Order: sequence, then C-alpha cells, then structure tokens
Amino acid sequence: MKILVLNAGSSSLKYQLFDMRDNSVLAKGLCERIGICGSKIKHTAESPRRIRDTEVQMDDHQQAISVLLDMLTDSEVGVISSMTEIDAVGHRVVHGEELFSKSSLINDEVLAAIELCCALAPLHNPPNLIGIRACMALMPNIPQVAVFDTAFHQTMPNYAFLYSIPYEYYTRNKIRRYGFHGTSHRYVSSRAAQMLNRPVEELRIITCHLGNGSSVAAIRNGCSVDTTMGFTPLEGLPMGTRSGSIDPAILSYLMEKENLSSDEMLNVLNKKSGMLGLSGISSDFRDLANAAKEGNDRADIALKVFNYSVKKYVGGYSAVLGGVDALVFTAGVGENSPAIRAAIAGGLDYMGLSLDSDKNEAARGVEADISASGSRGRILVIPTNEELVIAKDTEALIKR
Ligand code: ADP
Repeated sequence: MKILVLNAGSSSLKYQLFDMRDNSVLAKGLCERIGICGSKIKHTAESPRRIRDTEVQMDDHQQAISVLLDMLTDSEVGVISSMTEIDAVGHRVVHGEELFSKSSLINDEVLAAIELCCALAPLHNPPNLIGIRACMALMPNIPQVAVFDTAFHQTMPNYAFLYSIPYEYYTRNKIRRYGFHGTSHRYVSSRAAQMLNRPVEELRIITCHLGNGSSVAAIRNGCSVDTTMGFTPLEGLPMGTRSGSIDPAILSYLMEKENLSSDEMLNVLNKKSGMLGLSGISSDFRDLANAAKEGNDRADIALKVFNYSVKKYVGGYSAVLGGVDALVFTAGVGENSPAIRAAIAGGLDYMGLSLDSDKNEAARGVEADISASGSRGRILVIPTNEELVIAKDTEALIKR
C-alpha cells in the first residue's frame, strides 16, 4: 500500500510518499512560495536517489499538489507510474479542539468540524484545509485522512488543561490547554517503549521535543497527562522566536509603555522573543552555540534560560508522574545537541536518571540510549518521525 503524506502551510507544502510494506519513503519534497512569485519545488526520489530542484509556477495549493503528482509520476524522477497507485492521503492538521482525540477519515462532517477549529488556529488550520480540499478535487476517489497535532493531548485531565480564569471562558470561548506536537510526542514515546522492550502502558515517560518550536510532555501509560504548550503554541518553553510563558500582566504594561497594539504585542511574543529576542543575534541554536563559544554573553544567557526552563518542566513532570522510566530528547536540538542535552539531563541522578557523557557526545541524529549503565531510568535520543505516524494512522483507518 502507498500513502501520500501532506503537510500544508500558508505558502508551503511538504510531502512524503510511503511504501507501507516496509514503511520506506519512496520520495519526498517541499513546495515553497506557493502563491508568491518564484515558487519552487525540491523533489527527492529514493533508490536510486534522484533530485529535482526547480522553479515552477504554483499559484495555489491545488497547483502545487498537481506539480508534486507530476514529479511522483515523472519518467526520470518519478517513483510510481500513475496517481492511481496512491491508496490514500494523510494530512497533518494542527488543531482539532476537543472534537478530535484521534485521527479521522475525512468526510463532509469531518471537513465541517475542521473548519470549525479554524477559529482557534487561524494561521494553521486554513492552509491545512486548503490542502485537503485541493487533494479531494484532484484525487476524488482516493480516501483522505486528517491527523491532528492536538489529538494526543486530549487525554490530559481537566486539572491539567484548565486555566484558573473564570470557568465560563472555557465553556463559552473554549479557552483551555490543548497542547501541540502531539504526533511527535506520541511517536517518540511509543519508540521509547520499544527501545526499553516494555509495554508503553506501564511506563512513565517525559518527552522533550526541542526544535524551533519546543514542548515537553508527561506521558503515563501511553497517554499524555500534561504538556507545556497551551491554548496556542506560544505557552511553555522559550523557543526560537517565541517567548514561552511570561507573566500575563506584562502585556498590558508593555502595550502602554511601548504604544503597541494587541497584534503588535503578539507579534513581538511570537516572532521577536525567545532565543532571538534574548540574544539579539539569531533564533537558531547552532548560531547561538557558536556565538556563546566566542564569548557572546547574550547568546550564552539565552541558551541558559532555555536549558533552565526545560529542566524545570522535567522536574515538574517527574513529580506529576511519580518518577521517570524514560526521558526522551527529539527534534532538531534534542536530536543533535549534546551540550543542551547535558545541561538539561545532567544532575538528575537523584531522580534515577544518570547521563553517560561519552554516549551523549556520540549521539547525533540517531536513536541512542545515552544513560549510564547503572541508571534506573533511561535517557534516550529518538529522531522524531511525524510523517510515518500520519502514514500509519492513514493506513489503519482505510483498512477498517
Ligand atoms: P522545527 O521546529 O522548525 O521543525 P527543528 O526540529 O528542525 O525545527 O529544529 C531546528 C533547530 O535545531 C534549529 O534551531 C537548529 O539550530 C537546531 N539544531 C540542529 N542541529 C543542531 C546542532 N547540532 N546543535 C544545536 N542545535 C541544532
């Protein structure tokens, strides 16, 4: 069975075509600048590897999907002979509110529900929907599945997801913690159980998804019980350009002092804060590490603020779970930065988590157990694979 996985952003579209017999990726690619002049596609076909990186006019997502289907069936860089070889399409959808606690086969009712969720994710859900509609138009007889970033966190208990503001704001305006990166937290927690050779149903796992956007989740018996992102992805850890949690009273104070509108204030918190705001140099963790090494104090403090915040949540979630069987690092920073992992996971011996510095230093972008041999809980590096989860959910739903 062949499954196409799509992740549609406002002007971009990422895709991967999976062969589900062995979960291998047949081809993948990225369409960029959709609807903007100079749109282009980078397509990579595997076995043997063939790459096409070219400018193509793509005025909208439907044209982009049409272009990627041409690539998949192309005589030189194609991997299938016709579109009919695609058995189903899995779509990443950011927000599923309380309406979706699992992935869903898309029908009119599901489409209408995803539409409803646009109010809570006005930047993310609309492009996801455009991608789904474009696929339905181009491939009307191929089943489509929606996989939600929020779904995995729907198991959080109400005392973890409610904010302590008047309850009516929850019932009337749906204000609560939703959490994001759910597909990633789900994937790495289930891989961690496989690596430990124990059922996920009996494990206490803390997963740290540390990339441009970052979140930590507490997972008990395979279910998310708390996570750092909230009503939007802005809450929790400081990130590349996002502030993470700050005292909410700062907003009105700053808006008055700096004469900022609410949109401008939100833009500062989303785009100009975090590592970029603190360092004044870059949102990229590699740039910060290099600058700190060269003696830049603000890059150094930005990294310290990040590491400290992650460590604080790890300690908090250990208390929530009553101990930790596995602490998992994933995403760009978590998979590749021994220094950041050491700053977070060092000194946790009292929790039964002891890091092996040589193993930590050696683990870059590959699955690894980086805990010391005597460590009661394990510290793991697991590259995330959200696309594979989307493909597997899609396969499972269409096989029913
Ligand atoms: P996104 O949230 O955009 O998916 P990623 O998970 O790809 O982000 O993570 C991107 C971040 O990972 C960047 O800030 C990048 O600097 C960081 N990163 C990648 N490799 C390293 C490394 N070797 N050391 C430190 N940071 C790294």
